[in-house]
Amino acid sequence: MILERCGRCKAPIYVRLAASWNQDGTVTGRFASKTRVVQVYADEIDYILSGISERIGLDISRIVTEGERKAGLDFTGAIFAKLGGLVGVLSRSFLFRRLVFVFVLKAAKNAGFGDCHLVEYRHRRRMVVRFRDPFNPPILSGNMLGAFEAFSQRPGTVDWEVAGDVATMTITSDGPADRIGDERLEPVLPPTLPGDYHVERCPRCRMPIEIGRRYHFDLKKGIATEVETGRRIVTVMVESLTAIFGELAGELGDEVGRMVVELESEYIEGIAPRGEQATEGVLRGLLGDLCIKGMGNPVSVSVGDAEIEVRVENPFSEEMLAGRVLGFHRAIFGGPADVEWTPDRAGFMTIRTRGQT
Ligand SMILES: [Zn+2]
Repeated sequence: MILERCGRCKAPIYVRLAASWNQDGTVTGRFASKTRVVQVYADEIDYILSGISERIGLDISRIVTEGERKAGLDFTGAIFAKLGGLVGVLSRSFLFRRLVFVFVLKAAKNAGFGDCHLVEYRHRRRMVVRFRDPFNPPILSGNMLGAFEAFSQRPGTVDWEVAGDVATMTITSDGPADRIGDERLEPVLPPTLPGDYHVERCPRCRMPIEIGRRYHFDLKKGIATEVETGRRIVTVMVESLTAIFGELAGELGDEVGRMVVELESEYIEGIAPRGEQATEGVLRGLLGDLCIKGMGNPVSVSVGDAEIEVRVENPFSEEMLAGRVLGFHRAIFGGPADVEWTPDRAGFMTIRTRGQT
């Protein structure tokens, strides 16, 4: 049996293999160093996506899948690029192909996407994957399709069905022939600012001690839970969120960004503790999980008379962070409020909220 957890802090080894926690409020991938990951609540993403769907009265799952497919293609492509020309040779080997998909599915389980297994794989033709307790099925479908396309170097299409707590995805290689290679996502990572976020690290595995305490990882089920809140958490690529929101904005218009802010603020207001004082200390506490989740580094926080100002360095998503602060504003001050922010061009954003009078 392969050792799956650190003997000391109990954090899963695969989590450590996949991500590195930095002092600047970012968590970056180890396999593809440009990949940045973030931990979000599974139902936070569901809430935002189903909220957009409801507001515009349209099923957006195909658009979501398409955005995630691009991100998945890039991610798996980046891992293969590391292996260089070997992929061409190795992909002819049955054993290697098996290994790659064992790895992809293991990574999905560790990310908290559910308990998945490969039902069928016919090289470059067809793949069937089944998830028990799946995270958002359109996102998972896009992710699996992207991995399939990167590996088989062939475009595909995906269909999925959900029955109870099981989602089955069927991928076939019959997508638009010109799709591979000409539409790689441009990496849009803004510069990162150095930070001094220090974490206590496990002396054995070097992961932040807090990871083992904060989350409970059920590696069999592929479910990670935040111990304090009991909420399910997933580790997603920042590029995935950017690609999904970008795809939605491209198809539906720029008001999607505003919807994300509103929906995120509703979600956060709904889960925020009640009856908190409107002080800087309280707000710092509420934003205290940003660094460990890889969302960014809230370096300065000020709370005034029905006003909040926060500077976040290395923000993972302007809309989700603006919505987050707006949600906390509404929770601690009560009543309606507005938010505005400076766009992240140089590695930081300033978020300001104000109560409506
Ligand atoms: Zn450890």
